[in-house]
This record gives sequence, C-alpha cells and structure tokens, in this order.
Amino acid sequence: MTNVVWRTWSGTQQARPRRVVVPNGTAEVAAAVRAAAAAGERVRMVGSGHSFTGVAVTDGTLLSPTSLARVRSVDRAAGTVTVEAGLPLCDLNAVLDAHGLALANLGDITVQTAAGAVQTGTHGTGRDVGGLAGQVVGLELVLADGSVAACSATEDPELFAAARVGMGAFGVVTALTLAVVPAFLLHAREEPMRLDDVLERLPELRAGNDHFEFYWFPHTGLTSTKRNNRVDGPARPLTPFRAWLDDDFLSNTVFERVNRVARRLPAAVPAINQVSARALSARSYTDVSHRVFATTRRVRFVEMEYAVPAEHAADALREVRARVDAGGHRVSFPLEVRFAPADDVWLSTAHGRDTAYIAAHVYRGAPYGRYFADLESVFTAVGGRPHWGKVHTRDRAYLERVYPRLADAAAVRDRVDPERRFANAYLDRVLGP
Ligand SMILES: Cc1cc2nc3c(=O)[nH]c(=O)nc-3n(C[C@H](O)[C@H](O)[C@H](O)COP(=O)(O)OP(=O)(O)OC[C@H]3O[C@@H](n4cnc5c(N)ncnc54)[C@H](O)[C@@H]3O)c2cc1C
Repeated sequence: MTNVVWRTWSGTQQARPRRVVVPNGTAEVAAAVRAAAAAGERVRMVGSGHSFTGVAVTDGTLLSPTSLARVRSVDRAAGTVTVEAGLPLCDLNAVLDAHGLALANLGDITVQTAAGAVQTGTHGTGRDVGGLAGQVVGLELVLADGSVAACSATEDPELFAAARVGMGAFGVVTALTLAVVPAFLLHAREEPMRLDDVLERLPELRAGNDHFEFYWFPHTGLTSTKRNNRVDGPARPLTPFRAWLDDDFLSNTVFERVNRVARRLPAAVPAINQVSARALSARSYTDVSHRVFATTRRVRFVEMEYAVPAEHAADALREVRARVDAGGHRVSFPLEVRFAPADDVWLSTAHGRDTAYIAAHVYRGAPYGRYFADLESVFTAVGGRPHWGKVHTRDRAYLERVYPRLADAAAVRDRVDPERRFANAYLDRVLGP
C-alpha cells in the first residue's frame, strides 16, 4: 500500500491505490497491466480527477497519465489528430491553434485529459456537433491481457462503439484519434432573458444558433442566455480588463464569496440570486472558438447532470422549478441547460436521441442530497440518462432501460475484460459486476 491519497477536484471521492505507476508510452502501460494481472490486482488510469462520481477510483494500481501526453501526429489532409491519452485538452487546443485547426465543439473547461474527458462523455452544447466522443475516430487501448488493440468504425467496430464512452471499463486508452476542423471564430452573444420566454422559444433558439445554452437562477424567473455562432470575422475579443472582470473576478472571486455567504445564510439565497441574475449584463464578442467555449472554474462545487430527450426539456425544467419552490431548497448556483444532437456511441448520454442536458450544482460543503434526489426523480421520469462523471444514484437495472445498447456493451466487456481487471465499485453498480 502506498501513502498516496488520490482525490477528485471536488473532494467527493478519494482513492488509496496499492501502487502508482507513471507509464511513459504504450509499452509501459501494457507492462503495468500485465504486472497487475500477475498480482491479481485491479488497475485503471485516471485523468485529471474532474469527475464527481467514483468512476476513476481504484484500490489496485493507479496509472497516472502525466507522462502519456504527447501529440503523435497531425494529419491536415485527413482532418485528424492523434494524441496520447493524458494530453490535457487545453494543451491540445494550443497545438491545434498552431496548425490552424480546432475541435468542433468543447465543454465548459479544458483542464481534463483527452481520454478522461472522452471516457465519461464530456460535452458542451451544439445543434449540429455533439460531445467529444462523437469527434473520436479511432482508439488505441491496452486490454486486460496486456495486448494492444486499435479500434475504429472499420476495425473492431463493436469495441469502438462500446469503448468510446467506456469509463475505462474496456481497457486503458493509450491514444485517441480525433476529427478536427479548420480553426474558426465564434461570435458570442450573451443576454438575460426570462425563463418563461426561453422555454416558450426553445425550439427556435436551438434551431437558430450553432451553440445555444442558458443558465437559470433558481428562485427567480431569470436566465442568462448564450448564443455562439460561427462567423468569418474579424475577431473582436473582450478587452483583457472585461475578460478579467466578468470571467475571473465576478465568475470566480465574487461568486466564491457569494456562495460562502449563501452557505452560512441559506434564507438569503433567493435575494442573492435576484442580484446575481441582474448583475449579468448583456455582452457580445468574437474570439477563437475554444476561448468562447471554455472558461476557468475556480469555485469548487458538486454537480449532477442528466441528459433528457430534447422534447421533454421545457416541461422537465418547469417541473424542476416547481420542485425547487415546493421542496424549500435554497440553491445558490444557476442550473445550466445545454443541447446535443443524437449520436451513435453506445454509452453516450446522447445515444440515438436529440438531447437536452440539465445540470444542477451545489457549492462544495453545502448539502445536496435532498435537492439532487428531488431533481433526479424529475429526470428519471422522462427516461433521463445521468452523466457518467457526475453525481447520481442509478444502477444497471435502470440504465439498461434507457441505454438500448448497454447489454451489447456489457458483452464486449465480457470479451475484453472477463476477469474485471479494470473494475471498481462504481462500474459494478452501473455496468454490473
Ligand atoms: C469544473 C468542472 C467543469 C466540468 N465541465 C463539464 C462540461 O462542460 N461538460 C461535461 O460533460 N462534463 C464536465 N465536467 C465533467 C468532466 O468533464 C468529466 O467528469 C471528465 O470525465 C473529467 O475528465 P478527467 O480527465 O478529470 O478524468 P477523470 O475524472 O480522472 O476520469 C474519468 C474516467 O476516465 C477514465 N480514464 C481516464 N483516462 C483513461 C485512460 N487513459 N484510459 C481509460 N480510461 C481512462 C477514468 O478511469 C475514469 O473512469 C466538468 C467537471 C468539472 C469539475
């Protein structure tokens, strides 16, 4: 047993691995997996620890991704880039920038590793382009027997369909090939709107924008909406002062203080949210895509997020609003609502259906059990699928009902990891032992 205690960003999970290995390349990953098998121990690679669930936790060998973070190749003609699993998305963005390329869509932050983000189905918002796993065109994995396998739509397509959002259950991803597009600018238009108006106009707002999302401030009827659309230019980024004021000082420093007050004085939350919602003024700017998609998040929180069929989004949100009011919850974080088109990745939250994502956050240290349970019942009533990396209480029996290909994924798992070398308690719950 090592003295190492591995913790997630939010502090919700920790692991005491028996061994920590920092493999430098695929051969060293394979050697570590074979060594774990010889010792009868379990093994898994972690990313940057940004999941809230125990999905990355291991009691056996913890593989650290920090020396597995090189760019293998950039193929402009094919529109692909092949990177090692541990490359942080922000570093990938910088490399792509230098080649005049970009990922077509991203989530809210970019500190996750490429493999870690893809393995739980990390997504942003988009009408035509969905989550990161949909942008993956090939994987290299070390399987439970220590062999190295490549998979894609044409090479072992079943492994590819299962392992893209695979939570590390199918093998250690050593490299990913991602589809990339020519670098592009996004025009961001952010403005407050009433929740009722947003819900009324949801189909039009989704259809009329490349990337539409909104934040609803609980205990108020107010939202902050974001419409990001591709433009030719010119770039008109925020001034450094405005960027610092809005995205660093207000969104992090002030928001942290607001949440500390809210945690001490829950009764003040509705009034605080009224002020917060009104403090967000309209703004617009045009910048390189990844600087518009992602920001820095320094205020630590715990999150639950469900993917619901897009056609149920408005009613689900109305019900959430009713539950927040009726349940006496005091919620200082806005709920975030995003969208994605259907994809074909078996364990993707958007598998086979146009999807709306509804995310609830609670400031670290504040209670969330009753609030999340109330919302979870709203989402599961419409066949919601929990984000694999965010707090939820679902098990395999439920998940099989909302993922039509879960049993097929489980069959692939039986083939590539019959002894459950890559298992942990979380995977036992969601995929079965
Ligand atoms: C502040 C914050 C903002 C976030 N924003 C978003 C967002 O906008 N959209 C969204 O969808 N999610 C978001 N998330 C969730 C986050 O993107 C996911 O939980 C993601 O999986 C975290 O990536 P990671 O690199 O930290 O991986 P970890 O959480 O460390 O690991 C995730 C899973 O990947 C597995 N894994 C990692 N590397 C490998 C590998 N090489 N081979 C096999 N398996 C591997 C791990 O074992 C684990 O199962 C956010 C989380 C936080 C804390």
